[in-house]
Amino acid sequence: MEKEAERTAGGDKENESEGGEQPADNNRSEDAGSEEGERGAEEPVVSLAEVLAESEELEKEARAVLGGSDHERCSYAQGAVKRQALYACSTCTPPGEEPAGICLACSYECHGTHKLFELYTKRNFRCDCGNSKFKNLQCKLLPEKATLNPANKYNDNFYGLYCVCKRPYPDPDDEIPDEMIQCIVCEDWFHGRHLGEVPPDSGDFHEMVCQGCMARCSFLWAYAPKLAVPTVTKVTPAAEDGVILNVEETEEVKKENGADSQMTTEEEKLVQNNEPSTSSGSECSKTVKNEASTCILEELQARQYLKKNSATFWPHNWRSKLCTCKECMKMYSDLEVQFLTDECDTVLAYENKGTSDQEADRRDPLMDTLSSMNRVQQVELICEYNDLKTELTDYLRRFADEGTVVKREDIQQFFEEFQSRKRRRTDRMQYYCS
Ligand SMILES: [Zn+2]
Ligand SMILES: [Zn+2]
Ligand SMILES: [Zn+2]
Ligand SMILES: [Zn+2]
Ligand SMILES: [Zn+2]
Ligand SMILES: [Zn+2]
Repeated sequence: MEKEAERTAGGDKENESEGGEQPADNNRSEDAGSEEGERGAEEPVVSLAEVLAESEELEKEARAVLGGSDHERCSYAQGAVKRQALYACSTCTPPGEEPAGICLACSYECHGTHKLFELYTKRNFRCDCGNSKFKNLQCKLLPEKATLNPANKYNDNFYGLYCVCKRPYPDPDDEIPDEMIQCIVCEDWFHGRHLGEVPPDSGDFHEMVCQGCMARCSFLWAYAPKLAVPTVTKVTPAAEDGVILNVEETEEVKKENGADSQMTTEEEKLVQNNEPSTSSGSECSKTVKNEASTCILEELQARQYLKKNSATFWPHNWRSKLCTCKECMKMYSDLEVQFLTDECDTVLAYENKGTSDQEADRRDPLMDTLSSMNRVQQVELICEYNDLKTELTDYLRRFADEGTVVKREDIQQFFEEFQSRKRRRTDRMQYYCS
């Protein structure tokens, strides 16, 4: 707990849907118990099932952010990790100094009392903790590191600044409620209102590519009419809003494309693939190589499409519909966006990994116990649980009132006292909550 008190949250939590719309805060599973206790005060009558569901929700959120990240070992040994929870320490590397990123385990062990920026998750990053960017700190977990990690990419997020407007999050000077959305290409976070387009409802899209990345990866504009989630803004005349592109003017393509109603095989395939997927999206399968000789992109580029100065929004499984012909793969690699054809690169895949990794530890001993009990025993346990919640809330409130930090020993002491009170009460054989 005291460790957490020193941290700055990168954001808040309320909108952590699968799109990962917010830089997540530092909710960690071990905090779940006390938060629950505080909540208990406002809702004194809570069913055990509700309490469990709530605490499970908190744990789920924590797992989603921390995903498959190791909280004990520095991830440096794994090289550039495909995706991991990442932090920047403004105590060790304040704005103005070289930016550096540290892994989850180092955030606990080496920077526990420092001021940290939560960077949510980033891809292909190797932990910097204690390397030449840190003047006064040695990594406690893995001090033997190269002086620099040349392949790491940094942006303003490492100084706690987000979006094209370069503001902190949460922003004390910003009163407009607006969700932050992460671009899946540059992995910066953007205000919904700074994307050049009103974002669709967060449930309607899965991933976002910011306007800067759309300009750099302009081939995506050719996919947009077929794949992207339409935005709600009215359609403005192309001349005002963007440029109509019609590249690939070769006669051959034109002929093939002449009758608009007649779809080519590749087109048909594209449309078929576009049907709503029955899978929950939890499966993360390797992209199947495009066996066809035709380039999907080339066909799409032969049609008219609009290129705008705005972000785009994409549905589930859209990555698997991108062309994987030789030329396109080469282009992805030149643009350093090979991950676009990899469904396993998504934040959702990472979150699901965290969930399945921890599935084994997740068997709830309380639920196991409960299901093996008869009705009277169940009621007793529920009463006891509610008593515990109430007492723990009162106990924690004292600390809050005094403004002191709760320590592990305090919690231990509470449970010892609670146990002894409970022993005294058991003689009374009370079945119903008082
Ligand atoms: Zn580390
Ligand atoms: Zn530090
Ligand atoms: Zn470290
Ligand atoms: Zn902004
Ligand atoms: Zn971007
Ligand atoms: Zn292609």
